[in-house]
Amino acid sequence: MKVLVLGAGQLARMMALAGAPLNLTVSAYDVRSGNLVHPVTLEVLGSGLENGIADADVITAEFEHIAPDVLSVCQASGKFYPGEEAILTGGDRRKEKALLDKAGVNNARYQVIESKADYDAAVATIGLPLILKSALDGYDGKGQWRLKPDSDLEAIWQDINQFLQTSPQGSRQCVIAEEFVPFDREVSLIGARNAQGDLEIYPLTENIHTNGILSVSVAAGDDDQVQSQAEAMFKAVADALNYVGVLAIEFFDVGGKLMVNEIAPRVHNSGHWTQQGAEVCQFENHLRAVCGLPLGSAKRVRPTAMINIVGEVTVPIAVMAHAHVHWYDKEPRPGRKIGHINLCADSAGALGDALDTVSMLLADDEFPALKPAADSLR
Ligand code: AMP
Repeated sequence: MKVLVLGAGQLARMMALAGAPLNLTVSAYDVRSGNLVHPVTLEVLGSGLENGIADADVITAEFEHIAPDVLSVCQASGKFYPGEEAILTGGDRRKEKALLDKAGVNNARYQVIESKADYDAAVATIGLPLILKSALDGYDGKGQWRLKPDSDLEAIWQDINQFLQTSPQGSRQCVIAEEFVPFDREVSLIGARNAQGDLEIYPLTENIHTNGILSVSVAAGDDDQVQSQAEAMFKAVADALNYVGVLAIEFFDVGGKLMVNEIAPRVHNSGHWTQQGAEVCQFENHLRAVCGLPLGSAKRVRPTAMINIVGEVTVPIAVMAHAHVHWYDKEPRPGRKIGHINLCADSAGALGDALDTVSMLLADDEFPALKPAADSLR
């Protein structure tokens, strides 16, 4: 079968690598250049979305910030999974919040802001502190403002008002004001759903961010009660979207009670650990779901941690003696994810020790979350 992925980044690359043993041929549509490329070598295979669609048996996406006209052409082909609505929902916090409400899952109180009156109402009704997030094009904490009791509310409004004038082509920008959630930790749940509604759900992953970018994800076992809450919310959201493919849900854990932060209608960075830590990884399960193949087991086979390689950093070859290193063949740039390291062990304690061992080979300022991750396992 031939699968076309919208987007030609590392997620398409890892889908292609996971699909090869199943005789699934994955190509990628680079939305910026309009070229069809090989997801691993980036060799140009052709050009034009129409050609890519005609040649594919199945179409999917590796990111959610895709122009609406591209999504509607793909949808019209009848080959697109998880489909236009799911991708639009993941890329627009307005739609995302409406979905979470419709699915009846716990999420932070919010108000849509399109005018100064909305802004004032959010401050008055939700109260400070507040987090304001752009509805469109927000990722890795970009397009966010924080309002604290001592903030200059008027100056921040001026900045937001200016921002509201800039909308991506074919869309209307707005800002979502959200209550500040005093969370204990951030966790995410990745799972696959097929067209029949069957689910394969991975265990929860605990995520540590640095400057808004995911640094380390740890999948070492969680409280059963917290896992069940997450799974119930996953099912509610995936069913509400009639979702087909891998879906990721990020949560805040507040004293053992989960609250959804956001969803990603795709394979997710916090699921990269599944390449070495699960029976069947998220990339293969996504392809299985969208191609109508049986889903694979999402069982965790061993405690595993994923360490992101971000920016212009060095990773000594000695790390390979302890871990699996996955490079994306990308030019290093500040803040850019260029690879990741998967580290496995036989127990949570041993995984903490392994993180300590690897942290001695890596610079503290380049990998600041290793020690907190190791500590979380003890
Ligand atoms: P997001 O882009 O929504 O994932 O936000 C980026 C980061 O900001 C999250 O990973 C949280 O650490 C933090 N954050 C987002 N929303 C809230 C909130 N409502 N309350 C507290 N922290 C938040």
